[in-house]
Amino acid sequence: EEQLAVIKGQIKSYPDFPKKGVLFRDVFSVLQNPPIFQLLTDVLIETAKAIQPSVEVIAAVDSRGFLFGPLISLALKIPFVPIRKKGKLPGEVMSHSYTKEYGEDTLQVQVGSISKNSRVLVVDDLIATGGSLKGAVELIKKIGAKPVACLIVIELEDLKGREGVTCDVISLLKY
Ligand code: IMP
Repeated sequence: EEQLAVIKGQIKSYPDFPKKGVLFRDVFSVLQNPPIFQLLTDVLIETAKAIQPSVEVIAAVDSRGFLFGPLISLALKIPFVPIRKKGKLPGEVMSHSYTKEYGEDTLQVQVGSISKNSRVLVVDDLIATGGSLKGAVELIKKIGAKPVACLIVIELEDLKGREGVTCDVISLLKY
């Protein structure tokens, strides 16, 4: 709890970004303070290790999920797999489209990067409406793997994003 308060104290908030009425929480501000970045990394790793039955693959969502996912995968000695916006991944990909506030978005994963039935932990920096996380979870199911939980640094609770996500959402910092 005390550790989480220290991390939260390092997160800068920007009113009216990227548009009026939005209070933007900036996880990058944590990376400017190495001891607190280390603390956040340690808490994420500890939390990931505590998930039972243990996870076999870490998947993170484009793009700030990539800041944390690989660090967790190294500590757990399991593979890291990127889930990217359409058109970024080479080779054969599986796609999943979902609707956002304005229009549609498509996430992709490389075919063969996650084996069927493997237990996947999905990592991202922030959950707002939950649209992107829901999309990522659906995509993982589509390739035949099992999303066991989502591990998120920041949750904007008022938006109730976790309600739309069909697996357990574990968030560290709540606003
Ligand atoms: P959602 O799909 O509405 O949950 O939006 C989540 C995505 O939008 C996350 O992956 C974030 O990177 C980004 N996002 C939404 N709100 C914020 C914010 O306040 N700070 C940083 N990123 C945000």
